[in-house]
Order: sequence, then C-alpha cells, then structure tokens
Amino acid sequence: MSIEEIPRNGGGRPRIFDVYIKRNGLGDFRLWCEQDDSFDCVHVEVAWTYPEVQHMILHYKGKTKVCLVCGYENPENAKFCMECGARLE
Ligand SMILES: [Zn+2]
Ligand SMILES: [Zn+2]
Repeated sequence: MSIEEIPRNGGGRPRIFDVYIKRNGLGDFRLWCEQDDSFDCVHVEVAWTYPEVQHMILHYKGKTKVCLVCGYENPENAKFCMECGARLE
C-alpha cells in the first residue's frame, strides 16, 4: 500500500513510499517499510496514523467481527453491531 509522506517543514512535495503488512519472526503482523527494510522506521510510524492502515491490521489479525447483516467490521469484543445493532455471533 502506498502512503504519502508529508514533509514536516511544510516545504517540498509529498513523497510516496510503500509499506506492507508482513509477519515478523514472532508471527505477529507488523507494518514493514520497503524502502528501509524496517518494521519501525518513521514511515511505519506515519502509516500507523492512517485509519485505513489500522483497519487493515485489525483485519489481518482477525480481531474483527464482521456483521452478517450489514457487513460492518466491529471490534472483536463487540456483542452487537455498531452500525445496525444486530447481534454478533
Ligand atoms: Zn521507511
Ligand atoms: Zn450490522
């Protein structure tokens, strides 16, 4: 997935870099930066602030309960769908 890096000093153009979700040695899903071959560089930090990234990680970890009625992805501890109120299995 491509992430846009906004320069902190406000100048220059946003740079696009790629981060991926990879398993580390422990079997955990982590964000991985292609450019730095790193799990914890500044790009990964920036990527973590993106809601869609957090959403994706949750999805990979399987820590979501998908509502069978409306398809909304709820936190794994949810008992009822936050979107439509249906009971979650
Ligand atoms: Zn990086
Ligand atoms: Zn629902």
